Amino acid sequence: MHHRVLGGALAALLLLTACSGGQAAPAPPPADSVSGVGDPLFPLAGNGGYDVSHYGLVLDYEPATGLLRGTAKITARATRQLPAFNLDLSGLTVGTVTVDGAAAKTSRAGTELTVRPAHAVARGAAFIATVEYSGVPSIIKDDDGSHEGWIRTDDGAVALGEPVGSMTWFPGNNHPSDKAAYDIAVTVPAGLTAVSNGELTATRTSGGRSTFQWHSAEPMASYLTTVAIGHFQVTQSHTASGLPVYVAVDPREAGEDRSGVLRKIPEILDWESALFGPYPFSSTGAIVDRVDREVVGYALENQTKPVFPGDTEGTTLDEPTLVHELAHQWFGDSVTPRTWQGMWLNEGFATYTEWLWDEQHGGDSVQKHFDTAYADDAQWEFPPADPGSAENVSDAPVYGRGAMVLHKVRQAVGDKDFFTILRTWAVEHRHGNVNTAEFTAWCEKHSGKNLSGLFAAWLYGDGRPKTP
Ligand SMILES: [Zn+2]
Repeated sequence: MHHRVLGGALAALLLLTACSGGQAAPAPPPADSVSGVGDPLFPLAGNGGYDVSHYGLVLDYEPATGLLRGTAKITARATRQLPAFNLDLSGLTVGTVTVDGAAAKTSRAGTELTVRPAHAVARGAAFIATVEYSGVPSIIKDDDGSHEGWIRTDDGAVALGEPVGSMTWFPGNNHPSDKAAYDIAVTVPAGLTAVSNGELTATRTSGGRSTFQWHSAEPMASYLTTVAIGHFQVTQSHTASGLPVYVAVDPREAGEDRSGVLRKIPEILDWESALFGPYPFSSTGAIVDRVDREVVGYALENQTKPVFPGDTEGTTLDEPTLVHELAHQWFGDSVTPRTWQGMWLNEGFATYTEWLWDEQHGGDSVQKHFDTAYADDAQWEFPPADPGSAENVSDAPVYGRGAMVLHKVRQAVGDKDFFTILRTWAVEHRHGNVNTAEFTAWCEKHSGKNLSGLFAAWLYGDGRPKTP
C-alpha cells in the first residue's frame, strides 16, 4: 500500500474518520468452529481448523445496480475434526452451501459465516465447500480511516482487500497465513472488461455478456486478490525474459505521463530481480482505474496487478509508487507476514526499495531519505515491530521507521552481507509466511553478528534513538 499522493488535508480527513465496520464484534460462533486465527491486530480475521489450497470464484456483476452474484468453490484440508467451520463474509446473502456435494447448514454472526456439514469432516481430510451468494457488496471503513472492499466506480468496480476487504466479495479464510491458488471468472455486460490477478486464460461473449477467466497458480493471500471492472485500454506485452505483462488503464487515466511510467515495469522488475532474486510470479501488470480518491487515496500491491487509483484531482501512479508496489511482489505478496503484526516486513522493505531506486537513478541518496525520516516526529509514535492496534497498521513507523531498520542493519553488516540477507530472505521464503523474529534471526545468521542491541533500539524500542 502506498499513501504518497494523499494531500495533507485529505489524509487528515481520512485518518480522523474513525469508523470500524470491518471488525464489529459478532455473537460468539458455535464452540465447535473457530473464528479468527489469533491475529494480534485483527482477531476475527481468518478461521481455524482448515487450510485452503484453491478458490474457484465464478462472479457475475451488474454495474448499473451494483448486484454481484457469485459461487465460491473452496478446496481445503481439515487440520482437525470439523463438525463445523467458519468462513469470513461481510454483507451479501448466502444461498445454497454444500460440502462435498451434500447440503450444509449455515448461520451468520457479524462477518462470520458458520458452515455445518451434513457429516463432520475428518481431521486431515480434503473437502470442497461451495457457497452461492449474492447482493450489493459494501465498502469497509477500517480503524485507520481508509476504505477497502468492493469499491463501485462510475463504470464498474474495483476490489481492494488490505487488510480484510476481500470478504466483501467472496467468502473465505480471510487471513494472510492461509495462501491459496485462485481461478476467478467474472461475467460483465459486453463492452466492459474484467481484470483480475494472474493470467487471462479465456474470454467469451454471448447474450450481451462477456466472461473473463483469470488464473493464479502461485499461492496468494486473500488481501491481494482483485477484480477491476470497467472500460479499460489493455496493453499486453512481454518483458525481455518472456514474462507476460498485462496493463489495463481507464481511458480517462491514459496519457503519456501515465504510460511513460507504466512502460518502466520491465526495467523496474529487472532491477528488483537483480537485488531480490527471481520475480516470484508467472505474470505481471498493473491496473489504473478512475476511483474517487476521497474514497481510495492509496495504491495497492495486488498480486501481479497492483492497482493505482486516479481521478480528476490527480493519480496515485508515479515512478516511486510503481517501484514500491512492484517491490511488494517479493515482500508481502510472495514473502507474506504470518500476522498483520508483521506489516513492516512489507512496508519497510518496499519503502527501502524506493530509497535504493532513487539513489541509483539520479535522486536523493538512501542516507538523505534516512535522515529525512529520522527527523520526522511521526516516525517515532510506535515501534515498527508492534503497531499496537489495527488503526496504526498503515502509519508512518511501519513504512519509514521500518526502512530505517533495514538501513541500520546494512550499516552494521556491510553491503555484501546486507544484500545477501535481502536476496536469501526473498528466495528462501518464496510463497511462504514469515514473522519479525525470523527476520532478525536471519540477519544474525547471515552476518554472524549479534544485532540484538540494534533491533532493541530501532525495531522494538519506544522513541527515537539518540544517534541516527
Ligand atoms: Zn506498500
